[in-house]
Amino acid sequence: MSAWGGLLASYGQWLGNPAPSDIVTLNEGNTPLIKASALSERLGAAVYLKFDGLNPTGSFKDRGMTVAMSRAKARGAQAVICGSTGNTSASAAAYAAKAGLTCAVLVPGGYVAMGKLAQAVMYGATVIQIDGNFDLTLNLARQLGEVAPITVVNSINPDRIDGQMTGAFEVCDQLDGAPDILSIPVGNAGNITAYWRGFTTYQDAGIISRRPAMWGFQAAGAAPLVLGHVVTEPDTIATAIRIGNPASADGARRAVNESEGQIRSVTDAEILEAYQFLARHEGIFCEPASAASVAGLLVHGVPEGSTIVCVLTGNGLKDPDTALSISPRPLSIDASVDALRATLNI
Ligand SMILES: *Cc1c(COP(=O)(O)O)cnc(C)c1O
Repeated sequence: MSAWGGLLASYGQWLGNPAPSDIVTLNEGNTPLIKASALSERLGAAVYLKFDGLNPTGSFKDRGMTVAMSRAKARGAQAVICGSTGNTSASAAAYAAKAGLTCAVLVPGGYVAMGKLAQAVMYGATVIQIDGNFDLTLNLARQLGEVAPITVVNSINPDRIDGQMTGAFEVCDQLDGAPDILSIPVGNAGNITAYWRGFTTYQDAGIISRRPAMWGFQAAGAAPLVLGHVVTEPDTIATAIRIGNPASADGARRAVNESEGQIRSVTDAEILEAYQFLARHEGIFCEPASAASVAGLLVHGVPEGSTIVCVLTGNGLKDPDTALSISPRPLSIDASVDALRATLNI
């Protein structure tokens, strides 16, 4: 058995075969594809969870960041920047630290989950809160990238999308083929674009014989792709997909059209129900945004007997505030066996 060495070591042939000395990695990828028994029974289908919250910084963003940071460093970049709802900043900060580059992150003031902010500051990034939403932070990062020597590592950077294709590769390798349906939360729409490109790459290479239908789910308060227009004041508890003007909207539309899939929305209440169901019945604690991919199936239904993969994009530990806000408070009792027995009724 040889140790897992990260995505560029394993999938380098699809990513330009970088020289080992150019690779910046935290051994990301190779996340588990977990059979969801309770969900499968409830839906009458074979449902698997691709738990990308188990990446080094706790989200799928690491898949694209290893490629973006490796290529930026190889080109001689000194500094990187991103606008972020939180996970891109955590990932960029970690990979920049590993690469020895400086990193600045722009986050929407007040709307970033606490764990993500803690990560970005711990990894040593310069964290700048902007009075505005994600879309504004991305615009600012882009504008700076055009006039200053700094590399933008948002998913408008094609290196990010390249790296994120590996999510689709792993799903096919783990299932020994493509699922019938790939269900995924959609915010800035980079990931759905990358998965579709990944499935297409594998089909063109003859590794899979057919591609899945792509089912994307947006939060009802931030659903520009469902509504067909930009949402100027996006609003949802799922902060990772609180985006009103997706940079990769075209990629998302292409994925859905070509695969005969769908993009629909789910309410915050439906997201939270799925979030809690996953924790309580599958033993998996993901982010609220990630649970949108499961909420979509529960709300809109699935073809009986189909094989479905839901991408769980981020780790629940990043957002303890939301988890605690919907959960019972810890009980306080006297430190005695009698009190314990009375409380537990045993
Ligand atoms: C970034 C992110 C998303 C949205 O992905 P896009 O590529 O922006 O559509 C969903 N969930 C989590 C946890 C994320 O970090």
